[in-house]
Amino acid sequence: MLRSYLARVFPIDVLREIEGSLAEMGRLAGVDLYQLQLADRLNEPRLTQWDAWGNRIDKIELTPLWRVAERIAAEHGVVATAYEQKHGSLSRVHQCALAYLFTPSTDIYSCPLAMTDGAARTLLGSGNQALIDRALPHLTTRDANEFWTAGQWMTELTGGSDVGLSETVAKPDANGYRLYGRKWFTSAISSQIALTLARPEGNPPGGRGLALFYLETRDEHGRPRNIEINRLKDKLGTRKVPTAELNLVGTPAQLVKGTTDGVRNIAPVLNITRLWNGISAVALMRRGVALASDYAGKRVAFGAPLSEKPLHADTLAGLEAESEAAFHLAFYVAELTGQSETHEISEDDALLLRLLTPVMKLTTGKQAVMVASEVLECFGGAGYVEDTGLPVLLRDSQVLPIWEGTTNVLALDTLRAIDSLRPLQLAVTRCLETARDHDLADAVRVARTSLDHATSWLAEARSAGQPALEAGARRFALTLGRTMELALLIKHAQWSHDHEQDRQSTAAARRFAQSGVDLIF
Ligand SMILES: Cc1cc2nc3c(=O)[nH]c(=O)nc-3n(C[C@H](O)[C@H](O)[C@H](O)COP(=O)(O)OP(=O)(O)OC[C@H]3O[C@@H](n4cnc5c(N)ncnc54)[C@H](O)[C@@H]3O)c2cc1C
Repeated sequence: MLRSYLARVFPIDVLREIEGSLAEMGRLAGVDLYQLQLADRLNEPRLTQWDAWGNRIDKIELTPLWRVAERIAAEHGVVATAYEQKHGSLSRVHQCALAYLFTPSTDIYSCPLAMTDGAARTLLGSGNQALIDRALPHLTTRDANEFWTAGQWMTELTGGSDVGLSETVAKPDANGYRLYGRKWFTSAISSQIALTLARPEGNPPGGRGLALFYLETRDEHGRPRNIEINRLKDKLGTRKVPTAELNLVGTPAQLVKGTTDGVRNIAPVLNITRLWNGISAVALMRRGVALASDYAGKRVAFGAPLSEKPLHADTLAGLEAESEAAFHLAFYVAELTGQSETHEISEDDALLLRLLTPVMKLTTGKQAVMVASEVLECFGGAGYVEDTGLPVLLRDSQVLPIWEGTTNVLALDTLRAIDSLRPLQLAVTRCLETARDHDLADAVRVARTSLDHATSWLAEARSAGQPALEAGARRFALTLGRTMELALLIKHAQWSHDHEQDRQSTAAARRFAQSGVDLIF
């Protein structure tokens, strides 16, 4: 799937240049990191709050897998590739391909990398030269000794979706500000820096009264800078990720951009972390489907391998179709993100990117959970047993619809992003117009009908009023996501048929078209 997609999107000479880096990452993920991941299964990060002499140290120890993952991520440019921009806008796609290969064998090390990438993009866009000079070389380096990761501390007890309720206060001092408050979810607390929200004293309530701050978590001796880590969360999944609850007790911080509009100013972080969320979703789906397909050839039941049982083969085909559809949407958003970063994006596509970022995140997040659950079932009882290494796929996938904005919150964001559906209609039509293969005709019809239904629903719901619009937002956003996925799958299927004489994507498109594209009802 990845090879075929890259062959369509990259010019042949560029593909030759980047192929070595991807092959090496594939080898690491399939061999070295995978072996380490299996050996690391029972390890978890540890918080030591006090040293032997009664000093508060709040030291975090990562597991061996994560320590190696950090080095490999830096050296192989899993963040840096997007900033070196050796191949213009396609550098973002190259980077996402590296992340896609890297993610399934590193137990969500994608989390700190996503926030690092988001912080780098946000600082670059902020125009704050002092912070750019200070942090960007570390965030985007390939030197593992110089590499910094970043956290993103938004969620407080009062709310994660409604961050306008944040209670953290910023008091000015001679060197900038000091922050006082309690952050309720701070992942990758081992990071060297964080971007966070706080309300400068005297500012009004709500999101506008918050400001975006930059802080460095530890001093030159490795001690927390007026940060107390209360505990690490005991979570369903992402158990290698040290997610902390912490108190800011006069933490030194710098304004990133202005003294207000923090929620708006932190949006670039979220655009990037939502892209990473989608890439992680398709990466975990791919791992699960690959394992389930392999097992189907080995497990014999009722006289034949499962792969020869029509119903099991049909189950696997459904999973293939979901993961391939999701793959094309996530990577399409990567393409658009790259074009936006290199200022090569058309006005319509900029609107499309604004719309598709939340749509892609929420659609692929839901697919990842569904696919992981079904993958476990494909292994029967073994899928439920920890030392197969399978249950973690489901636990880790379950976070994808929650963090970086829940499904409902992103569905409402989708409504805010839509002035008109025109950019999406154009994008879907462009894809469908490429289809000439008769076998794709039904799938094309499904995509058209579903898009028409979404368009008419939006008009009706708008005239019915805000409650009707909000109540249908999730079904509407998922329909847009699945329609765009089908359109992209159809486009790829036609290309693959023409250039590779391969019918796999055609089969996936036909199957996906029958798997519920219009969810508006
Ligand atoms: C493992 C993990 C790591 C995390 N790491 C971080 C981190 O590093 N930094 C950080 O800032 N946060 C982090 N979070 C927090 C995460 O981003 C929030 O939990 C998430 O945004 C939801 O916020 P909440 O928990 O306050 O839920 P709430 O906002 O209380 O939402 C509860 C439910 O209400 C729904 N809902 C909310 N508003 C509406 C509405 N208007 N209409 C309809 N439905 C609505 C939501 O969809 C959800 O189903 C992490 C979370 C997890 C699980």
